This record gives sequence, C-alpha cells and structure tokens, in this order.
Amino acid sequence: MDIALTTFAELGLAPDILRALNEMGYATPTPIQEQVIPLALQGGDILGAAQTGTGKTAAFALPLIQRLLPFANSGTSPAKHPIRALILTPTRELAIQVEESVKDYTKHVPLRSLVVFGGVNINTQIPILKAGVEILVATPGRLLDHVQNKTLMLNQVNTLVLDEADRMLDMGFMPDLKRIVELLPAQRVNMMFSATFPEEIRKLADSILNNATFIEVARNETAITVTQVVHPVHHERKRQLLVHLVKSRDLSQVLVFTGTKLGCNRLANELNKIGIHADAIHGDKSQQERMKALDAFKAGTVRVLVATDVAARGIDIEALPFVINYDLPHNPEDYVHRIGRTGRAGAKGEAISLVSASETRYLKDIEKLLDRNIDAVIVPGFEPGAAEVPAYQSREPRRSGNAGDRSQVAPRATNSQPTESRPPRAKPASQHDVLFDAPYVPSNPAQPANAPEAIRRTPKKQVAALFRTPVKSDSTE
Ligand code: AMP
Repeated sequence: MDIALTTFAELGLAPDILRALNEMGYATPTPIQEQVIPLALQGGDILGAAQTGTGKTAAFALPLIQRLLPFANSGTSPAKHPIRALILTPTRELAIQVEESVKDYTKHVPLRSLVVFGGVNINTQIPILKAGVEILVATPGRLLDHVQNKTLMLNQVNTLVLDEADRMLDMGFMPDLKRIVELLPAQRVNMMFSATFPEEIRKLADSILNNATFIEVARNETAITVTQVVHPVHHERKRQLLVHLVKSRDLSQVLVFTGTKLGCNRLANELNKIGIHADAIHGDKSQQERMKALDAFKAGTVRVLVATDVAARGIDIEALPFVINYDLPHNPEDYVHRIGRTGRAGAKGEAISLVSASETRYLKDIEKLLDRNIDAVIVPGFEPGAAEVPAYQSREPRRSGNAGDRSQVAPRATNSQPTESRPPRAKPASQHDVLFDAPYVPSNPAQPANAPEAIRRTPKKQVAALFRTPVKSDSTE
C-alpha cells in the first residue's frame, strides 16, 4: 500500500513560500509542521511540545510569514514596516538561527526581519530597527533594553512566539517575559514551544495563550533517529575514553557537553594538547568567540566543540552526527535538549553518555523522563572497575570460580601496575560484582586503540549493578 505523504502545498502555504522551501530542499513537512501549520494559518493559538530538531522553527515561522503576506511591501517608509511578529528565544545562538531560517523562508517576499540580542553593541541594531522590520527575533533582555531606549514599538505586534519556553524559565527570563507580554496588543496569535512542561511552564501557557491547541510531537522523547548509548566508566578515565572514541571511530563534528565552564575549557585544552582540534563555548566567552568557534566547528576545522548547556542552546548544525555527554546533566530535561542537537529532521545521530558511578542518579532521572532505558555498553579497557571502591572498604581476596562471568569482562591493558600496590579484593556477591570487581588499570597511552566492533553490550539488568559500588566524590571540575 502506498502511503501518500502530505506536501507543503497541501498544508496551504503560498507559492512564494513553497518556492523558498523547495530551494532549501525541504521535500515534505515534519510531523510538527504537518500539525501546526494548518492550525496556525487559521490564527489559532498553539502550545507545542517539541524540541529543537523536530522542525519546529518552520512550524511556527511559515504560517507566521504567510499571515503577514498581506502586509508585505517594498516601500521605503519605516511606517510601512512596523514590527508585526515577535519571536522570543532564550539565547543569542538560537535567536540567530531562527532569524536565519526566517530570512530563508522570506527570500521571495518583501518582509523584513532582524535579530537582536545582548552582548553586542546596541547601537548597531538601532538604525535597522528605525528603518522598520516586520519580524523581530529577540532575546528578552535586549528587547527590553530597546523598549527602554524607545528604539522600537511593539504596539502593532499581531503574533507572538515563545521558543524554548522551558529554557527561558531556567534562565530566569520569566519576569522579562511577563513585562514584554504586557506591552503587546491583546489581539494577537500566540505560539509557545517547549521541550518540557514543568508546572511553571503550564502556568505561563495558561496566562499567555487563548484556547490553545496542544500539539505534542515526541514529548520528552528524543528524535527517533538518534541512537542513545551509555558507556559506564570510571570518572578519572572519561577523558581517555573520549579520546579513544574520537580516534578509534574517527569521529568528527563532535559536540561534547560538560557540566561547568571550567571543565569545558580544561577538556578543550587537553584535547588540543594531544592533537585533537577542539574549542570551547560557554557563558564566559564573548559572543564573537562563540560565533568564531561555532563557525569553525560547522566548517569542520574544529573537530570537537566542548560546550556547556547554556552556550550550546539552540546550536543548529545540519545533521550534527555526534553528541557526547562528558558529564551527565543534573537536570534530565537538559539531556533531552542536548541530544536534540543530533539526529535532526530525519538525519541519523548518535548520543553517547560517559557515565561514572556517582552519576547513576542522574541517569535514572533521565530514563524516568524518557520512560525508557538507555542501553549501557562497556567499552573494553574502560570498565568502571575496582578503582571506584573507596579505600576504606574492607576487602578480602577473591575466590576462584565463576569463569563464565569473568569471560564477560573485556580484556584490559596488559601494562598492569604492580599488583602488590592494589588493595585486596572483596568477595563478589554476584556476577554483577564480578563485572565491577575488575581492577582499574591506568591505560598505556601507547596502547593501540580498541576497534569499535570490540564494544560489548551489557545485558540491561546488569547495568544498574555496574555502578553499585559507591564513590566518595566525582567532581570532574
Ligand atoms: P528545528 O527543529 O526548527 O531547529 O529544525 C532542525 C533542522 O531541520 C533545521 O536545520 C531545518 O532547516 C531543518 N528542517 C526543518 N524542517 C524541515 C523539512 N521539512 N525538511 C527538511 N529539513 C527540515
């Protein structure tokens, strides 16, 4: 049976918009576009549960543009180009990318757009605002700066989009958002998108939207084209495992997430020292530095981009193949956002998490949110191992036997440290403990990298036990 795919034309989009989509190579709408576009064309409010990577930008931007077509004109008078649509995003990176998409979609129609965000000289934005733009993409703080300076007017806005509302909440933009909404005409169309729906987001939606249609696409799920895997590893060996994965699998365009700015810088420096070209983006980097790093990453001259959650928000790179969680986020929603950078709009992606014993609680939260388990795979030579056992635990020599279980343990480096220096072993309570009981042997940098095929799958029920041994602390910073 043939399955007829909906086309953009069938969604009711205008020829000039269809032409732009065609030129961009958009063949068919994504599920969120299929659902949002017809409703938004009719002017209904929308609450969208969709993360970045699902095609949500086009889902809100295309109907917004189409509804502005009657106002499109090539006149030179600023009065002919008031701000009619306001799109708010949490970060400058996302704002830039959204506006780039808007520019692409409006290529064949005389509608003007502009992006304004903080961290850059406000004076460069003023002349363009004064000349008039119909579609303004902004971060909340900078928008309010302009409002305060009276360098823009919001009294003709007929469409409001809140993109990544949950992130705006996380970043403390709620008071700014409320102030902005009060400045807008009451008669308007509202669209709000969020990957997650904590209580405060629901309240915000209630206060802003009118009779909104809730559209849910893969809520709290990651794009189906993203393969997710967890590599249990001792926290001290994460960097070596990262290097091993990058080198042995010849990975490029790898986005690596760390928990802190310090860890982000440190990891990028360490990778550079061993010849893996890396750069770091985080909140302490200037806008120029971030853009430079992002451009080099997009161009492929930077192989690994190390980022914190805030800095990486909204990064949009066509078919970003790999996302690696060097540190698991403490907030499970951040995991969903992070891995939303890969497997976008149908492209295949891989999300790899390096998880140490003390991070299992975060892993559990993530799995709860996703409502599924993530496969755990031990990379041979990087077993979590006995080094995770605090020295104060009393241990006794291992009993012989259980060879079958031992055979499950991957071969480790042969350049063992003198065994006399190791503490005596505790009796393994189960086969899980046998897996865990392997001694941690610092690897020899000269040791050839294991082939990726050697990666061994661990039965799911054993996974929890892989991390059973407590550790005192696991600061990667
Ligand atoms: P978004 O979720 O809006 O960040 O979109 C993710 C990526 O998918 C962007 O690079 C878009 O250009 C691309 N994209 C969005 N919609 C489509 C589509 N219908 N067909 C192909 N690519 C798309």
